[in-house]
Amino acid sequence: MTSAAAKVAVIGGGISGAVCASLLAGRGVAVTLFDSGRGAGGRMAQRREVMEDGTELRFDHGAPYFTVTNDEVAQVVGGWEARGIVAEWKAMFACFDRATGKFTDFEKEGSTKKYVGVPGMNSICKSLCSEDGVVAKFGVTVGKMDWLQDRSSWSLASLDGKDLGNFDYVVATDKNVGSPRFSGLTGRPPPLDLSLFPRLSVMVQDIPVRPCFALMVAFSEPLAMVPVHGFSFNNSDSLSWAFCDSSKPGRACVPPNRQSWVLHSTAEYASKVINHIGPRKPSVDALAKVAEELFREFQATGLSIPQPIFMKAHRCHCYRWR
Ligand SMILES: Cc1cc2nc3c(=O)[nH]c(=O)nc-3n(C[C@H](O)[C@H](O)[C@H](O)COP(=O)(O)OP(=O)(O)OC[C@H]3O[C@@H](n4cnc5c(N)ncnc54)[C@H](O)[C@@H]3O)c2cc1C
Repeated sequence: MTSAAAKVAVIGGGISGAVCASLLAGRGVAVTLFDSGRGAGGRMAQRREVMEDGTELRFDHGAPYFTVTNDEVAQVVGGWEARGIVAEWKAMFACFDRATGKFTDFEKEGSTKKYVGVPGMNSICKSLCSEDGVVAKFGVTVGKMDWLQDRSSWSLASLDGKDLGNFDYVVATDKNVGSPRFSGLTGRPPPLDLSLFPRLSVMVQDIPVRPCFALMVAFSEPLAMVPVHGFSFNNSDSLSWAFCDSSKPGRACVPPNRQSWVLHSTAEYASKVINHIGPRKPSVDALAKVAEELFREFQATGLSIPQPIFMKAHRCHCYRWR
């Protein structure tokens, strides 16, 4: 890419788009990043909730942490650590067998370094999207992308038909831009007609998408029978993981004795629900039912799970991913 006059649109302010935008801007490329969401983060998200007594709770309801297996990435993450937007989560993990009611496979301490964004998983993306040279536009869904042969550039328009400008290159970080799922969510054709790009179409189809519901719960005191900060479930039809969010570094907003947890559903459970309710955003009632079911399963572990103190309209909050 010739950076001198290059104008690049990045679709998506998740970690892929944010890193891409930051790297390009660092090389002098004019980058405009668009994201449908209210802010940066994508699936590395954090949600703010306020309890009835005014206490603020924050939940990393997407990716709970990440690991690094590549030297080049390690260098980048080291830079983020130095900037204070990432920290190591010194968490002990294990597996919980729902059939025997026992924790097994305790991870060796420090065997794999786990990193989290600080103070939230979205902090990395937020910081990268606000770097010099990155113009970030949130709350904007790219609804149409057209290649203008005569101008050798891409013309982008929003879902409501607003002109978003012309760009030499477009980096799309979500397979939605060319997938029927976009239509399922918006009722409109996807921005990119992938039938014009058969090779890309095959590659996009190969990207796996696994649905998941995340349940966010807070307790007035620590879960005394849980000896770890995160655990996977064996032999559970509906739960796959549980993470103690409040044990992460930089989550100072949680009063010391309280604990907040995020539970992830299994993909199979999420698929079943989604097949039943359809691809559109689930209703409040549907989410409340998911919350009930997942929390009931958590309580059925025999780990003396008390009633949560975080209850809004329907006790716990569920968030549907994908
Ligand atoms: C519940 C859950 C648990 C996970 N656990 C882990 C884990 O433990 N470790 C790990 O490493 N990873 C984990 N992941 C995966 C990780 O979160 C993702 O791989 C990563 O965040 C994807 O980043 P991305 O930037 O590629 O995509 P995304 O974060 O999905 O970002 C894409 C962005 O594009 C935007 N967008 C899409 N279409 C348009 C459009 N037309 N116009 C404008 N904006 C658009 C979306 O709003 C979104 O913000 C988990 C994910 C989830 C959901």
